[in-house]
Amino acid sequence: MEIRAGKGVSFARRIYLPRAVGLGVGFFCVLAAMYPLQVPSWVWALLVFNGFVWPHVAFQVSRLSKTPFQAERRNLLIDSVFGGFWAGAMQFNPLPTVTVLAMMAMNNIAAGGLRFFLKGTLAQGAGILLSLLVFPLAFNQDVTPLQVYACLPMLVLYPLMVGWVSYRLATKLHEHKQVLRTVSRTDSLTGLLNHASWMAQLDSEFDRCRHLHRRATIALIDIDHFKTINDGYGHVIGDLVLTQLSQILRVSLRETDSAGRYGGDEFCVILPDTSEAMAVDIMERLRQAFARAKYELEPGLAVSLSIGIASYSPYQTDACAWLKEADRALYAAKSGGRDRVSAAFDVIDRRSDATDDAR
Ligand code: GH3
Ligand code: MG
Repeated sequence: MEIRAGKGVSFARRIYLPRAVGLGVGFFCVLAAMYPLQVPSWVWALLVFNGFVWPHVAFQVSRLSKTPFQAERRNLLIDSVFGGFWAGAMQFNPLPTVTVLAMMAMNNIAAGGLRFFLKGTLAQGAGILLSLLVFPLAFNQDVTPLQVYACLPMLVLYPLMVGWVSYRLATKLHEHKQVLRTVSRTDSLTGLLNHASWMAQLDSEFDRCRHLHRRATIALIDIDHFKTINDGYGHVIGDLVLTQLSQILRVSLRETDSAGRYGGDEFCVILPDTSEAMAVDIMERLRQAFARAKYELEPGLAVSLSIGIASYSPYQTDACAWLKEADRALYAAKSGGRDRVSAAFDVIDRRSDATDDAR
């Protein structure tokens, strides 16, 4: 409900200035057309009210309403009723009539699309009918130079205003889209890439290596005995350990590397243009840095990492096969006693050594 109210107030705020300018210059347009006609003084008072008071009343009505969005749409329809009324009052003098009605139609389309444009047109029709209750039906086809000049500010200023407001809205929407995109790609706790987005990076890195014959290495990093940390120190400290790891990853990796949270206490890294030996060095430094990390709330806490590493190989059928190799290396690090870095190549090597020994 609050979000809806917020949306309505910003909608009303967006329309406030264009309405104030549009109705202000529209006043002179109608004034020039009605001046030669005999109209009662209350009509002049109504014109002054519509041109200079109504925009501020309309904004306050929307701002103070419980449903500002609906209130503002109602105000736009009232604008259209006024527009229709002035068309009749000006005896449908072609230039000011078309100017006033077209500007309002543009406003309605910008505010609510085709449906609202149709509603606005009906409201303009209602305004014309109202005017026929006050004035006899008459058509005045003569447009004086003064009336042409009086319409010019509205014809020039109002579209400029609406264009400017639309541009600002488009810029804001673009910014929001960027923020949403970043949020949808990011793990909320650590600020690293989330699972889906890291997997997409892995796919594109695999394609890059395959097509450009480049090398790259990935690492799967898992916190040792993390369940015990959660159970012993609580989930808040568990979360601190996760953010600590993400910070160390951020400072120790290059711009071109991609670090993500694979899920739970498991992290993942892509190291483009990096051999397995280089990756082992990088991950070994990371393992040691994390082991040295201190936690203010629990100074005695020391946490270790198990890391599995696998390099791209043209024999891998797809990115999943590459990931499986890193997963096997991680499993080897865990089963080898944890707190270590294990490379897929060594795992395969050791396996073939074991097979040779068995023979
Ligand atoms: P191992 O050494 O074999 O990795 O053992 P482990 O205890 O780390 O086991 P495992 O990796 O399966 O444990 C993952 C735990 O991480 C289980 C889950 O409760 C916890 N966890 C997952 N996500 C979060 C989180 O966002 N915050 C916290 N505090 N804990 C999480
Ligand atoms: Mg773990």
